[in-house]
Amino acid sequence: MISVEQALEKVLSYVEVLEPERKPILDCLGQVLAEDVYSDIDIPPLDNSAMDGYALRAKDTRGASESSPRYLVVVGEVAAGSMPTKEVRPGTAIRIMTGAPLPEGADAVVRFEDTDEVNRKSSGGDLSQIGILCQAKKGLNVRGRGEDIAKGKLVLKKGKVLRPQEIGVLASLGRSTALVIRRPIVAIIATGDELIGVDQPLAPGKIHDSNTYTIAAEVSRYGGIPKILGIGRDSVRSLTEKIDRGLDADMLITSGGVSKGDYDIVKDVLAEHGEVGFWTVCMKPGKPLAFGIIKKTEVGKEKKVPHLGLPGNPVSSMITFEQFARPAILKMMGKKILAKPAIRAIIEDDVVNTDGRRLFARVSVTRRGGQYYASVTGPQGSGILTSMARANGLAVIPESSNGVKAGDMVEVQMLDWGEEQGEVKAVPLVSIVGKSQSGKTLLMEQLIAEFKGRGYKVAALKHSRGGMEIDHPGKDSWRYAQVGSDAVLISSPDKLAFIKSLDHDLSIEELMPIVGPEFDLVLVEGFRKSKIPKIEVYKKELGDDLLCSPEELSAIVTDGSLDTDIPQLPWGNPVTVADFIEKNFVLKS
Ligand code: AMP
Ligand code: MG
Repeated sequence: MISVEQALEKVLSYVEVLEPERKPILDCLGQVLAEDVYSDIDIPPLDNSAMDGYALRAKDTRGASESSPRYLVVVGEVAAGSMPTKEVRPGTAIRIMTGAPLPEGADAVVRFEDTDEVNRKSSGGDLSQIGILCQAKKGLNVRGRGEDIAKGKLVLKKGKVLRPQEIGVLASLGRSTALVIRRPIVAIIATGDELIGVDQPLAPGKIHDSNTYTIAAEVSRYGGIPKILGIGRDSVRSLTEKIDRGLDADMLITSGGVSKGDYDIVKDVLAEHGEVGFWTVCMKPGKPLAFGIIKKTEVGKEKKVPHLGLPGNPVSSMITFEQFARPAILKMMGKKILAKPAIRAIIEDDVVNTDGRRLFARVSVTRRGGQYYASVTGPQGSGILTSMARANGLAVIPESSNGVKAGDMVEVQMLDWGEEQGEVKAVPLVSIVGKSQSGKTLLMEQLIAEFKGRGYKVAALKHSRGGMEIDHPGKDSWRYAQVGSDAVLISSPDKLAFIKSLDHDLSIEELMPIVGPEFDLVLVEGFRKSKIPKIEVYKKELGDDLLCSPEELSAIVTDGSLDTDIPQLPWGNPVTVADFIEKNFVLKS
């Protein structure tokens, strides 16, 4: 038996990034750019107005206010799409529309709302003049030439996945086509004598072929082009004939016929045509899997097509597709992020894992009060496709675990998520709070040491109310800060320090992206107002009351016993506290 990781590594070793093709930008959505795109124009091409208003000289508005307007002579009007014909001289203004080029001489635009135009119009006043009701700074409501993209600039880098905004950027550069890595053509064959097509009536002993459709939809979803070859019968002849038709494709996916049943002939056919491995992958569902290369000699040329043989059971076939075919398709498309986005969630049902394989449990994930919850979507038989239809994620129970209990933290691979965002792993956070002198810093220290001892990668986050002193006078970094640098980064082979001036106290949400995603656990001291799980350290001698309200707390570490439903842990016993944190907030493996 091989692990999921070993199987994936083998699958990926057989597929290559495909060659680029040039095509219309609208057909490139989701594909990887295969060229660096430089701009040969300025965007915007000219200084222009960001508002409907009056183009004028900022100087002419000095001292203007609602009670003492500055009056300017209106010498013309300019709409978007036309060029101004007049210049703005001192004491004059030109009526201007959003996007219209700024007239010569003007350096600001005052919007209609800050003029007396509406009043003038309603009172039938003279429109050859305009009253300006506010003082304008130079550049007000003016979009500068090249402000978005300067001519000559590298705008989109090779390797970028094209989303609607990049396609828009290409259009704004005047590019109607782009060079992108082409989409793989994936041939799909279902196998089995029991299968009939969707449009055929059911007959005794027969079932509709659903795998073809699930797989074809998956292929499209991840950017490939499905080529449906239909149902291969459980005979060498039928299957050989189908496989031959799949050899023009970039990859061939079959479903069924890879287990130990009498009629399982995919193996026999493949053994004759290429180098194919049959593996038992340490996962459930979806144990048997075939993978390799099919060779075909065609007019003196040898063709090689990677083949992935998925199990026949509908759920197994979809889950193995997700684990192995999806990354292969993404790799062929030139994508770098191949993993499914994963989150940590509290499981709401017990899940048992009996046979030491990695269990992918179908779950429905919801977010409540800033926390993800995953509930199992009913019977988990590998033929029950509706349990997949109800799921939006797969809870991953490690092979080393014999299961999880409701309330445990689990990792969930999200089936539905913003695919291009990559891995969104929520790092578990726990805050230790308590009154001053309650022993929270001591507990932090003990917990850090305890979790390090358990093999965790730990980050500690401390809130300092009263500022801090970390940069020593005389050091280079201190000197840079002295002359005004807003941030100083010092990097050495084994350490990184980042000192940044702030204009407000950062929240945990703002801090976490700086901490980074690589930690197994972030222990926080303080941040009492944040919504993260909190454990309060309580000492009798500091008074009867708790610092936090009971609803906010996950547990209390106390040197006495308190009349409350919240779990109480003994003061001075960090191992128990670490066990509690591990069980409740960190994935157990
Ligand atoms: P196999 O791997 O061929 O032994 O098939 C395992 C189970 O999956 C059997 O119950 C098959 O009937 C079912 N199965 C195989 N292929 C399909 C398919 N294309 N659509 C629906 N069920 C299938
Ligand atoms: Mg079969």
